[in-house]
Amino acid sequence: MALIKDQTYQPKILVIDDEKRIREGCFSILTKENCLVDMAESGETGLTMIAEKHYDIILTDLMMPGIGGMEVLAKVREQHPDSVSIVITGFATLEHSIEAMKKGAFDFIPKPFTPDQLRVVVSKAVKMTRTLQDIATEKTRLKTIVNYLEGGVLVTDKIKNIILYNPTLLRMLGYDGEPLDDQPLSALTTDETLTGMIDSILGLKVGEFKVLSAEILPYDRGEGLSDERYLRAQSVPFQNRSGEILGSVTIIDDITHLKKLDEMKSAFVSMVAHEIRGPLSTVLSQIKILMDGLAGELGTKQADILGKISRKVGGLVELSNELLDISRIEAGLIVQDKQQVQLMDILESLVEFIQPRAKEKNIALSLKKADLPLINADMKSMEEVFSNLITNAIIYTPEGGKVDVRGEVKGDFVGISVSDTGYGIAPDELPRIFERFYRAKTEKTRNIVGTGLGLPIVKSIIEAHNGTVKVESEEGFGSTFYVRLPI
Ligand code: ADP
Repeated sequence: MALIKDQTYQPKILVIDDEKRIREGCFSILTKENCLVDMAESGETGLTMIAEKHYDIILTDLMMPGIGGMEVLAKVREQHPDSVSIVITGFATLEHSIEAMKKGAFDFIPKPFTPDQLRVVVSKAVKMTRTLQDIATEKTRLKTIVNYLEGGVLVTDKIKNIILYNPTLLRMLGYDGEPLDDQPLSALTTDETLTGMIDSILGLKVGEFKVLSAEILPYDRGEGLSDERYLRAQSVPFQNRSGEILGSVTIIDDITHLKKLDEMKSAFVSMVAHEIRGPLSTVLSQIKILMDGLAGELGTKQADILGKISRKVGGLVELSNELLDISRIEAGLIVQDKQQVQLMDILESLVEFIQPRAKEKNIALSLKKADLPLINADMKSMEEVFSNLITNAIIYTPEGGKVDVRGEVKGDFVGISVSDTGYGIAPDELPRIFERFYRAKTEKTRNIVGTGLGLPIVKSIIEAHNGTVKVESEEGFGSTFYVRLPI
């Protein structure tokens, strides 16, 4: 029987026995099996050899004069926890077996034994050492990969103890304390976003899988929270074969360069929009002078052409305005002027202002009046939000439809809804309509011009007021936009 299939692997074995016959028997059988075998005639010699050299497998007699097998087992476990011990014993009583197991013995072989019995026991031990070695290799490989990753890595077990992390993580979170292995997560961070995310991951049901992602703040040592760097954390669960959550893996990336790039782009867009808007407005007013006949009579054809030019230029002015708005909102500038406002008043005057446009399309635009409490908000921004929502409702509703605006109090919030009987939005486009420049295109709406900036502006303004906006829609039947603002 071949003990070891892989002939390049030569297990190192130490045989400790005071009986020469046994030592030499083992030596000759195992050497033929491609093992590297050393021998010790006493517990003392055995321990000296173990202290000097690492053995994969240690075969030790239990009863020897002087240091016995139990002591050898205890020392092996202490000094070489990954060595596998086999006990050779003349009297394999239950008591001895239990004690030897407690001391870390992997198996027994009762004296006297045949060469085949020895081979079977050692072959099992060899398999065990290979597995232990594979695990150890896997561990160092994992540690090396993790240590050299550019992102921060944080692995916790089910009860939020840290089981793996890398130096990048510590640097990102500004930690320079004691090693964190097996320490609770709270020893590393108290960041609520990060710990909350890990809590949610660990709270997943059996078999459930989720990727959570959020921006977190880096901690700048000594100076409190730093706003110069931006980190993004992504957490996922890891599970056993039956889908139970065993822990969480979190990867943290430094996204400062992306943020800076985004800021630069916004600044650029805002600069361009600003530079374009001035001349365009001048062009628009000059066209108006021509159209009003202030520079001489116009023929029908000329008036017609100027009308088209005026509409196109008007569209460009609107685009520049929206681009400017969005960059101002992103820079946190637009909602600085908060005061007590009555939303119902704003809605009333907006509906009145937009009514002619609704009439043009034969759309019944109505406002259901209600008593609303005052809220703390930026007046102009609120006008912009509801003007966008109501105008959209009219634009995306065919002739003869209906648009209803209503407001009500819902607990600590004021809820405003704008619903229409229009084209609606397809389910796959619904999550995207609040993205910048996103426009859902269908056969019916493809001729409608727009910028795809209205809803992102709405969302940014509402979120800057600690509110929420959501939409429900059914294609072909209409949409309802719900805004909630804290009282
Ligand atoms: P724009 O109207 O300029 O295209 P918005 O950001 O206001 O940009 O809207 C984004 C997209 O959402 C629109 O292109 C349209 O497809 C869809 N949308 C918005 N409001 C409605 C609505 N009331 N009914 C149907 N679709 C809508």
